Amino acid sequence: MLIAKEASYRLLPFRFLRIDEHHSESILLTADTGEYLFVSEKQLKDLAYKAVDTSSAHYKDLLARHFVFEPNVHDPFPEMAAQFSSRKSFVLKGPALHIFVVTLRCNHTCAYCQVSRAPLSGSGHDMSAEHAELAVDRMFEAPSPVLTVEFQGGEPLLAFDRIRQIVGLVEARNAVEQRSIQYVITTTLHHLNVEILDFAKQHNIQFSTSLDGPEFLHNANRPTPTRDAYKRTIEGIEQVRAWLGHDAVSALTTITSKSLEHPHAIIDEYVAQGFTNISLRPLSPYGFAKKSAKRLDYSMDEFIGFYLEALSYLMNLNAQGTFISEGYASLLLTNILTPFASGYVDLRSPLGAGLGTLVYNYDGDVYPSDESRMLLEMGEDGLKLGRVHQPLKELLQSPVIDMLLSAGVAEALPGCSDCALVPYCGADPIEHFARQADPIGHRAFSSFCQKNTALLTHLFRLLRDGDSETQKTLLSWLTRRSLSALPSPGYRG
Ligand code: SF4
Repeated sequence: MLIAKEASYRLLPFRFLRIDEHHSESILLTADTGEYLFVSEKQLKDLAYKAVDTSSAHYKDLLARHFVFEPNVHDPFPEMAAQFSSRKSFVLKGPALHIFVVTLRCNHTCAYCQVSRAPLSGSGHDMSAEHAELAVDRMFEAPSPVLTVEFQGGEPLLAFDRIRQIVGLVEARNAVEQRSIQYVITTTLHHLNVEILDFAKQHNIQFSTSLDGPEFLHNANRPTPTRDAYKRTIEGIEQVRAWLGHDAVSALTTITSKSLEHPHAIIDEYVAQGFTNISLRPLSPYGFAKKSAKRLDYSMDEFIGFYLEALSYLMNLNAQGTFISEGYASLLLTNILTPFASGYVDLRSPLGAGLGTLVYNYDGDVYPSDESRMLLEMGEDGLKLGRVHQPLKELLQSPVIDMLLSAGVAEALPGCSDCALVPYCGADPIEHFARQADPIGHRAFSSFCQKNTALLTHLFRLLRDGDSETQKTLLSWLTRRSLSALPSPGYRG
C-alpha cells in the first residue's frame, strides 16, 4: 500500500472523474479555477500520495494548472482568486438580460409552446404603457454596464406599438445613463412590415426566430391555421437580411420526438438558409410543453443520441469547409477553454435567474426568468418576485430569491459539490423545481445533470482524442470564427 510521504509540494483542492475505462489518460482532473488535465490511474495515485516526480513535465503541468503548489516558493492563491473571480464576474453585475413580455397573443398553436399563448384577437393579454414605463425604470436600477432588452410573447410583433414605446423610453433614459444596450425581438417573423424593419434598422435591433428544420418538420412542429409557417418564417429571414444585414437574424431549433429522426435534414436546412450557427434545444418542461408532454416527449437518452449524431455531422461539415457551429456546445466550450464564463443563464452558479435575468410579464408581474413565468401559466405562481412598481432592490430581496439562492450554488449542491464537471456547469433550480418539485433536486434523477454530464464528457473526449481538424473546429466554435482563420489547434488539457 502506498503511503503519503513528505514532498516538496502540497495539494490544492481538485475533483476527478473517470470518463473511460480503457484509455491511458482515463481520468479528468479539474480545479476550481476551471483548469483541467487528463491523467492515468497511476498519475492520480501518485498525486494523492505525493509521489509525483518533481522533475517531470507532468509535475510542471500540475503546478501550472493549480493542482499543486510549492510552499515558500510561490503563493498560488492570489492568481487562483483572480481566475475564480473572472469566472464568476457576472455575480457583481446584477441583472443584464431584461425580458419584456409585451403580449401573450400569437397566431401559432405549437404543441410544444413554452408559453400559454392567447388567441390573436384575445384581449387583456398585452402589456400596458404604464407597466412598460415602470419596467424600463426597473431595468436602469440594475448596475450592469451592458443591458440586453429582449422582447418576447406570444408574438411580440403583434404589440409593435409597445416595443416602439419601450425602445423610445430606453433611448431617452440612456442619453444620460450611457449603458451599452442591445435589443432582440424573439419572433416568428410572420408579422414583419416595412415600418417594423425600418424601426429595427434605426435602432440596431436584432431578431431571433425559430426554425425547426425543413418545411415538413417546421410546419408539423409549428402549426398555423394557414399551414404556411415555414414559408412565412423563411420570407421573414430574407426580409431581415435584406434590410439589416445577414447576421441580424439568428435561429434556434426545438427538438420534438418527430425531429429526433432528422438530425442531418435539420442541419442541412440551416446550411441551406445560410446560418453559421444552429442551437439544438430539447423540449422544455414548461407551459403547454408539459401538457403535451405525453405526446411530444422523449427520454433524455434519446435526445443525447440525437445530439451526438448531430454533433458528429456538424464536425464532418466543418472539416469539409462549411462553417457551422452548435450553440450549446459553444457555450460549454467557452466554460471549459476560456478563463471566463459563457454568461448563459442556465449554466451559471450562482444561478442566473433573478441575479442575471428579469422578466416583466404583460400583466405587471416580475419573474426571475422566462421559465418561472412559464410555470405561472401552468398554475404555479410561487416564483413571482413581485410587481413592476416595486423598486429593484425590493424585488431582489423577495423570499423567492432567497429560496432560489439556497438551491442555486452548484458547488454547494448534493451531487454537484464533488462533481468534476461543476466548474463548467450550472445549478438551474427552476428546472429542478419544474421537473422534480424541488429547487435543489436529486442529481441522480435530473435530466439537466444527465444532459450536461453527457455533453461535457463528450466534449472533453473530443478535446483529448480528436484529430487536428476536430480541435480546430471546436476552437473555431469557441471563438465564433471560421476554421480557416485559425492557424493551429490551441490549448489542450
Ligand atoms: S448538474 Fe450534474 S454534471 Fe452538472 S455539476 Fe451537478 S452533478 Fe455535475
